Amino acid sequence: MADARSSDTVHALLKRIDHDRYRVRPGQRLDLARIDPEDNGDFSGRRDDAEALFAALNDRLEALQELLFAEGKHRILVVLQAMDCGGKDGVIRRVFDGVNPAGVDVASFKVPTEVELAHDYLWRVHPHVPANGKMVIFNRSHYEDVLVVRVLELVPEARWRKRYDHIRAFEQLLVDEGTTVLKFYLHISKDEQAKRLQERLDDPEKRWKFRLGDLAARKAWDAYMAAYEEALTRTSTDDAPWYVIPANDKWYRDLVCVAILVDALERLEMRFPPVEAGTEGVVIDA
Ligand code: ADP
Repeated sequence: MADARSSDTVHALLKRIDHDRYRVRPGQRLDLARIDPEDNGDFSGRRDDAEALFAALNDRLEALQELLFAEGKHRILVVLQAMDCGGKDGVIRRVFDGVNPAGVDVASFKVPTEVELAHDYLWRVHPHVPANGKMVIFNRSHYEDVLVVRVLELVPEARWRKRYDHIRAFEQLLVDEGTTVLKFYLHISKDEQAKRLQERLDDPEKRWKFRLGDLAARKAWDAYMAAYEEALTRTSTDDAPWYVIPANDKWYRDLVCVAILVDALERLEMRFPPVEAGTEGVVIDA
């Protein structure tokens, strides 16, 4: 696989994967049951090829993140949402493998605490958005407030229904102030979830991740799908798009995610900052 250090090479590599087909158009109605979680795009039967391409793009992501940090002008927010076992942790581990931990933070949003519940639902989220030069990954997010909250009826519909507008406005604020916002829904099938939950239970090193609540969420699969469909339709914008990532095959999921990230970062046309005046010709005494 070609070395992806130059922009021209990267553009050639990115052309090999049509990630835009997974972007949700603003207002696009979704029927997740009709979107194939096993889709391998143009890489069907070509896993080795996909993995080589992934490795090259992952290298490039590493370089772009250094540039982001050095330039210190842009901010990147990646929102990850999925059903249990959808692969959020896997994406964080594999797609961001090799990036400098000093420039990347992961914010995980769990069941809100009493203090968090005593505020509006965006209160706990805003402090975690990225600063200049930083990349932040949301492992779950403010979207839980129109997903689990809707399915479990934790607040009345009249209240959660207004949240799509809040969320769009909140994300637009971030974008207008210089943040790139990318949102990934990792789409697995109900069968694939069963397989992964069972593997989790059977593996002593993974069993700790299992929650009985996961079974309740699985029972409400259709309600969650309806909640996702509406959330994605109503909050995918040109500036803060959602992507439905086919995620049954982890290697393809990771390839699509890294391609979207690299493409978005390339578009920022970042440059290393100029060296301090007087640096030219400096030689360090031995
Ligand atoms: P994960 O599944 O992300 O690895 P956990 O097993 O700790 O992590 O699950 C986090 C739980 O917190 C999920 O069940 C999720 O639905 C729940 N949660 C997150 N945000 C909210 C919220 N705003 N209201 C209620 N529950 C929430």
